Amino acid sequence: MNIAYLSLGSNEGNRQSWMEQAIDSLSVHAGNVFARSAFYETKAWGLTDQPDFLNMCIALETMLSPVDLLTVIQNTELQLGRTRTIKWGPRTLDVDILFFNNEIIQSEALIVPHPFVQDRRFVLMPLAEIASGLVHPIMKKTVAQLLDECPDGLEVKRIS
Ligand code: ADP
Ligand code: MG
Repeated sequence: MNIAYLSLGSNEGNRQSWMEQAIDSLSVHAGNVFARSAFYETKAWGLTDQPDFLNMCIALETMLSPVDLLTVIQNTELQLGRTRTIKWGPRTLDVDILFFNNEIIQSEALIVPHPFVQDRRFVLMPLAEIASGLVHPIMKKTVAQLLDECPDGLEVKRIS
């Protein structure tokens, strides 16, 4: 059995509903979602002239390989109406693999740990809620430490 930590984000339409539907779909197609953070609201990162994001993190038990999990994630994004337009632009749903066991993966399609985990407060805050002691296999620091040292100045508000 594998343990994966995922980040979910949405900034279009009924954001909370997209994320709930994503969790339902991942539970069916990927495996047991055994932990989930609250929802957090953040101003858009990167391309800033767009609606605020809602973000959360979940923990998943899965029998799938990392690449198969990515395929399930991408099908879920497509089924929930995501259209790929501008990089970092508005999206109904974005699901990223943050960690997969202790594995370090660097292929063209998949980079794990996700390369921006340590740079994004909107990822670290919800992640710390469900996995503060988890150790980043490259940086050798816990999620709590990474959050403590994160220079990202964007305000992240816990909303539920
Ligand atoms: P972003 O998440 O950077 O805003 P996308 O969701 O459109 O953009 O993802 C672009 C590509 O990132 C995907 O096609 C996928 O192959 C790749 N990718 C690489 N590493 C990961 C990861 N850890 N989780 C999710 N996608 C990843
Ligand atoms: Mg993505």
